[in-house]
Amino acid sequence: MKIAINGAGIAGPTLAYWLHHYGHEPVLIERASHLRSGGYIIDFWGPGYEVASKMGLLPRLHELGYDVKDVRFVGSDGQQRGGFSTDAIRRTLGGRFVSLKRSDLAAAIYAALDGKVETIFDDSIATIDDGSSGVHVSFDCHRDLTFDVVVGADGLHSRVRELQFGSERQFEAYLGYKAAAFELQGYPLHEEQTYLSYAEPGRQVSRFSMRDGWTLFLFVYRDFGPANLPLTHAGRKAALRNAFSDAGWECPEILSQMDETAEIYFDRVSQIQMSSWTSGRTVLIGDAAACVSLLAGEGSGLAMSEAYVLAGELARVPDNPLAGLIRYQTRMMPFLFDKQRAARRFASSFVPTTAFGITLRNILSSLFSFPVVGAFLLGRQLRSNFDLPHYDRG
Ligand SMILES: Cc1cc2nc3c(=O)[nH]c(=O)nc-3n(C[C@H](O)[C@H](O)[C@H](O)COP(=O)(O)OP(=O)(O)OC[C@H]3O[C@@H](n4cnc5c(N)ncnc54)[C@H](O)[C@@H]3O)c2cc1C
Repeated sequence: MKIAINGAGIAGPTLAYWLHHYGHEPVLIERASHLRSGGYIIDFWGPGYEVASKMGLLPRLHELGYDVKDVRFVGSDGQQRGGFSTDAIRRTLGGRFVSLKRSDLAAAIYAALDGKVETIFDDSIATIDDGSSGVHVSFDCHRDLTFDVVVGADGLHSRVRELQFGSERQFEAYLGYKAAAFELQGYPLHEEQTYLSYAEPGRQVSRFSMRDGWTLFLFVYRDFGPANLPLTHAGRKAALRNAFSDAGWECPEILSQMDETAEIYFDRVSQIQMSSWTSGRTVLIGDAAACVSLLAGEGSGLAMSEAYVLAGELARVPDNPLAGLIRYQTRMMPFLFDKQRAARRFASSFVPTTAFGITLRNILSSLFSFPVVGAFLLGRQLRSNFDLPHYDRG
C-alpha cells in the first residue's frame, strides 16, 4: 500500500520504518524544512523502549543519551530540599531506561529509515478526499497524490485531525499549565548528571547541563487564564518574563540570558481525548490521537508503540486495511486511556500550588531513594500493563 504520513516527529518515522519493513510504500510529509532540533529532554522507557530495541536503536540512543544520576529539588538559596537518586528508577525498570533530547530520538529513528522512505519537507497535507479509488490528498505545495491510507502523526495540534475529525477545541483537554523550554550555550552554572528543579507555588523551573556547554531549561507554570499561546519568539519571551519575573533562585539570571536563544518551545500542557482515531481510511497516531501530556513522561514511547502496533495490525490483515485500522485502535485505546487517567491524577501535584505542597513533595521524593519504598512508589507509576504484540516479521 502507498501510505501518507503527515508529520516526521517520533510517531511518523517509526511508522514509516515498520510499514517499509512489511513491504509498503510510506511517504512522510513534514511541515518544517528539516528535522526539528533542540527542544527538551525526555525520559524513555517502557514499550517504546522495546520498540526501539526491535529497531536496533538502543546502542545509538544510549550513546546520545545522558546518564542522569540525581533529581534534586532546591530552595531559593540553591540548597537541596528534596529529590532522589535515579537508581530507584533504574532498579524498577531493570536498567531499560535512558534520558535524551527528544530531537536526538527523532533523528535516530529517522536515520534508521536509511534513505529508503520518501520525505517531503516544508509541506503539509491540505485536503483529504476519501473516495472509491483511494484517498486523494492535496498539499500546501506538492502536486496532488492518491494513497491507500492517510495517517496523522502531526502532533498535539494535528492538521489531519482538524481536517477529518473536527476542530481541536472538541478534543483538547487543557490541564491548566503552560510549558516552555529552551537551550543556552555557556550558562555559568553546571552540574553533571543532575536534574535540578526549583518550585514556588504554581510555577517551577528546571535545568539540566548537557554536552558541549549547553544547558536545557524547562519552565512550567499554572495558568487558568486565556488558553491562547504567544505565536512569536518575542511574544514567548514576554510571556515567560511575565510569569517568572519575580521568581527566586537563578530565575533573574536565566531570564536575562534568554535573549541569546533563537528558539523557544512554548505550549499548553494538554491531552487529546477522542472516542475514535479512525475515519474511513484516515487514522491518527501519537500525540495527534491521544496526547498524554508531559505529565505522563512517556509520550514518545507511547507514540512509538502506537506506530509499531498500527503497522503490525495492517500486516495481519493485508487485504483489509480498514480492519487493520480498527484492530490497531482496539488494541491501543484502553492502554492510552489508562495512561491519560494516570497523568490527570498527577496533574494537581505536578507543580504544587502552596508552600506546604512543595515541602510535602520534597519530603515524599526523598523516600524514592529507599529501595523498598522507592520500588513500591515508582513501580506503580512506571511499570506498564501492556505487552507489546509480536508480529511475524517484527
Ligand atoms: C516539555 C515536554 C516534556 C516531555 N517529556 C517527555 C518525556 O520525558 N518522555 C516522553 O516519552 N515524552 C515526553 N514528552 C512527550 C513527547 O515529546 C511527545 O509525546 C512525542 O513527541 C509525540 O510524538 P509525535 O510524533 O506524536 O508528535 P511530535 O513529536 O510533536 O511530532 C509531530 C511532527 O509533526 C510535524 N507537523 C506538525 N504539524 C504538521 C503539519 N500540518 N504538516 C506536516 N507536519 C506537521 C511537526 O513539525 C513534528 O515534526 C514531553 C513533551 C513535552 C512538551
